[in-house]
Parts: sequence; C-alpha cells; structure tokens
Amino acid sequence: MTGPEELKSLACAEIDRRAGEIVALSEDIMRHPETGYREFRTADVVAGQLEALGLTPETGLARTGVKARMSGRAAGPTVGILSELDSLVIPDHPYADPETGAAHACGHNSQIAAMVGAGIGLATVHEELDGDVVLFAVPAEECIQTSWRLGLRDAGELHHTAGKAELIRRGHFDDVDLALLTHAGTPEPALGLGFTGTGSLLMRVRFHGKAAHAAASPEAGISAYKAATVAIAAIDAHREMFREGDGIRVHHLITHSGAAVSSIPALTEMEILVRAHTIDALRATAKRVEGALRGGALAMGADVEILTTVSFLPYADDAPLAEVVEANARELVGDGYARLTGSGGGSTDMGDLSRVMPVVQAMAAAGVDAPFHGNAFHTADHVSAAVVPAKLMAMTAIDLLHDGAARAREVIAGSGPKLSREDFAGLHDSLTRESVFRSTDHAL
Ligand SMILES: [Zn+2]
Ligand SMILES: [Zn+2]
Repeated sequence: MTGPEELKSLACAEIDRRAGEIVALSEDIMRHPETGYREFRTADVVAGQLEALGLTPETGLARTGVKARMSGRAAGPTVGILSELDSLVIPDHPYADPETGAAHACGHNSQIAAMVGAGIGLATVHEELDGDVVLFAVPAEECIQTSWRLGLRDAGELHHTAGKAELIRRGHFDDVDLALLTHAGTPEPALGLGFTGTGSLLMRVRFHGKAAHAAASPEAGISAYKAATVAIAAIDAHREMFREGDGIRVHHLITHSGAAVSSIPALTEMEILVRAHTIDALRATAKRVEGALRGGALAMGADVEILTTVSFLPYADDAPLAEVVEANARELVGDGYARLTGSGGGSTDMGDLSRVMPVVQAMAAAGVDAPFHGNAFHTADHVSAAVVPAKLMAMTAIDLLHDGAARAREVIAGSGPKLSREDFAGLHDSLTRESVFRSTDHAL
C-alpha cells in the first residue's frame, strides 16, 4: 500500500506538470463571465474538462450545476471538491463582458480551475483511496439579479436565490459527506483559513398607493414612494438599537420608484438585505425592518407587500476539517499560511452547506490588492489562486480518504450534528415569510 505522503507527491507532481492547462482554464473563464443560474458556457467548459478526466458528469443541476464522481477502491465517505460558476455584474471591470457587464470580480474563475486541477491530481491516485471524490461546480453564489431570481421562484422554477441551497433542497448534495472550496483573496496571506460569513435575508417589498395627477389633483393620490421613504427613515432609526457584535447590516435599494414624475406614485418597489452573524439576530432584525415597512405604509395610507427569503445562512469553517486543511496549507506555502482575523461582513451560501455537512472555505491569494466585488478585483496570479489551491484540496482529500478513510470519519464525527435535507428545508421555511399590510384595516 502507498502511504499518504507518496500519494500527495504523485498528485502534486501531476498538477505541476499540467499547471499551464490549469492557468489557461482560469484565464478562459475569467474572460467569459456569466451570472448565476445563467452560467451555460461555463458549465459546458467544466463538463468538457471532467469528461477529459475520464469522468461522466451530470449536468443541468439546479439549471447549470455540473458534478462528476471519481471512485475510490472501496466504498467510504465522499469528499466534495467544489467551485462556483458565477460572476458579478461590474460593467467597468477590465474583464467585463461588453454586452452583459458580467465580470469575475470575486475570482470564481480560479475556483473552477482549482477544482479541475485537484481532479487532475487525484486522477493519478484515486484508486488507492477508500472513498470517492465528487467534483462539483455549483451555480449562483452571488446575491445579484435577485428580482429575476425571485421571479423564477414565483414561477415555481426555483426555490432559492442561492445555488447551494437549491442543490441541497433538490438532493444533489445527498451523496456528498464533506466539502472543500478555495476562494480567491487579497495578496496576503498566500493561503488562509478562518473566513466567516454573516447570514442574510433578502426582502422584496412593494408599496401600493394610488396614482393621481401630481399638480391637478394631488389630494386624490397616495404616494407609494413617500411610504417607502418614511419606512427607510424608520429602518435607519433602528440602527441605533442594533446589538454590538451581532454584525447587523441592513442594505436597501429602491428598484422602482414610480411611473412618472408628474404622477403621484402608485407603486414603489424595494429590495432589502438584512445581514447578521446569527439566525436569532437575523430573525429579530427582519422583524424590526418589517415593522418599519408597515409604519411607512400606515403613515401614508398605503399598503405594503413583503416577501422575506433566506439569501445565505451564517458561515464558519468546521474546525476538525480546517485542521486537516491547515496542515496541508503549511506544507505547501510555509509562512505564507495565516489564520484570518476579524469577521468577514460578507456572506456565502457555503453557510447553507455548513448546516448539512462539514465544510471549509480556504482563501488563496489572487495577486491583486483591491476589494472584492470592485472594478479592480480579478485573478492576477493564476498559479497562487488556482494551482496552489488545486494541490491543497487534492492533498486534503488524500488525507481524508487514505487508510480506510479514518480521518474523514473522524472529521464527520467531530463536526457535531448536521441537519438532514428535510430539517434544512424546515429551517429555511421558518425564516421565509410573505405578508401583506393594508392601511385601510387600520383607518381612523
Ligand atoms: Zn462574491
Ligand atoms: Zn465569491
């Protein structure tokens, strides 16, 4: 039997040998960005790469997801090696698609290359492993184009705006036991662990008033827009009472303000994102926001319709799995490895996955010093963002699955209880809410 260190050397040597292909893949995806649930070209490229590894990918999972299984020599736990297919929309980004404005300003292009690279390495050793590896490219991590996604939800085509929750609900993660993802990061450290993400609730808000000529008969109107502005003032007033440490953020946009400036607006639409570190704080803050929205409606005599859905659940690495990843990160980059400090204010649907299995999202330097989601963030160093992470994930999968997959079993047992698919759906449903508040029910 071959020891884990020897298997790791074999896998890493193969990744090094084909590093040029991994870099080219990361560059290709960077130059062809597509947004969530519409990553059709990207999914085709991934499927082609997995077929070239001799695998048989399943495609079209939750619209665009692609998944392939690499079997070990014996049945055992399955390690998922993940990547995210989608981009953002940043029209002035240097690599933006000129037609759609889509741009990889979160570096997901390098995740795809890292996943395929890990597959390239593991293809040389998987027959020595006591469990399977699943390579899984998933759709729609970014919380964007939400009204389109909520429209798909209204039409019954999707349940969740985020890809991983949708895949969990549809059972596509039922045959995966633990999961690894690497995400592009800022220049330091080369590899880092300790990323945390807030949970977030997405609210779609529609104020309904009454149209009237804004000058000839304003007294006949009810301004939906003014109801929204009163509600925004009330949301802002609540900020003083947010508990320190809960990481609460409330972002809002008016996505439609009215039909014409000469008319009292009859319909004003908003989107609100509520973020917090805990599910309890999310619930409590959503209640405050809903109260503020009702207050705005009541103040103006308007009605308000509110749909609250889960965007992401809070995220933290599972410590037992992080230990395995950390040892390999130190081996790969030495002093270039660091624990990340401070809490990330951002969110990810890895938080959803963390409710159903042990997960780690490691951060890998993208070679650019610019904020995520800005017009300058892109993968500048594809070796550190894709090739090194490919090795990190291949090495970790080997540690987990060699010798009867003892380490994988230990990690699963040590990560504490996880939710079944049904209980996961129940948690989401308990945070999902539709309500209508009519001022006429409270008329003086
Ligand atoms: Zn992002
Ligand atoms: Zn991202």
